[in-house]
Amino acid sequence: ERAYRVVASRIGNDTGLYVLLFKDQSEARRIDRMRADFIANASHELRTPLASVAGFIETLRGPARDDPAAREKFLQIMQNQTQRMARLIDDLLSLSRLEMKPYQKPSTQLDVVELVKGVMESMRHIAGENDVEFVSELGVKPMLIAGHSDELVQVFENLIENACKYGSDGERVIVSAEQASPMDEVRITVRDFGPGIPEEHIPRITERFYRVDIETSRIQKGTGLGLSIVKHILTRHDARLSVKSAPGEGSSFTVHFPPVPPAG
Ligand code: ADP
Repeated sequence: ERAYRVVASRIGNDTGLYVLLFKDQSEARRIDRMRADFIANASHELRTPLASVAGFIETLRGPARDDPAAREKFLQIMQNQTQRMARLIDDLLSLSRLEMKPYQKPSTQLDVVELVKGVMESMRHIAGENDVEFVSELGVKPMLIAGHSDELVQVFENLIENACKYGSDGERVIVSAEQASPMDEVRITVRDFGPGIPEEHIPRITERFYRVDIETSRIQKGTGLGLSIVKHILTRHDARLSVKSAPGEGSSFTVHFPPVPPAG
């Protein structure tokens, strides 16, 4: 479907001649539609926990008023729901900040191996909570890329957090780095041994709000926005994400960074 906006400009003052410009509006329409979908999805995602909290307030006022055990249980659910809303709002703010900020090509190079080690260090407690074991195969060799460290920290936090959440209990989460030669791309891989992702879902998991199995995904706290934030940041870095996964065999998420030109 194509749509055009027509702009007429008169040539001269009294020639009676006009130039008509047909401006292609399809792209603008598509973006408007995406924005409308996004707002509808975000509102729905916020409405669901809000409705649940409202419902439990009613219950606490009425039937559960004199039942301490039920009260405690409902308060716990309400706390979980408010935390869920807070996570959603944080992710929505992250996304909108990324979209507002014009991207400045990073002029500084950074050692991505060092950066990922720092992220793993700061996430040890999450590994513990999810009963997975962190294994670093990052090595000691620095690997330089051009990037903004705060944004890249967010990328690896998301990938490692997913590996912890969706990995299987007692299993490993392996983080590795690879660069065949200084002229080659740098690859960082986060691998888990969880249930994996069915092939038909893989192309869609970086879409906003897309979650593979709503039931298990809801138990595993998440918003469905993590990988869309990852993709957004990587695109800004001329980097890309590849995913390998098969049911029962776990998943590997690899970030590919272009090589940086040698200094000098
Ligand atoms: P969420 O907040 O739900 O984790 P993400 O955008 O990070 O959102 O991921 C989207 C969906 O992709 C998840 O809900 C989950 O279904 C699937 N997914 C992401 N990472 C993994 C993984 N390591 N193993 C299995 N499924 C995953």
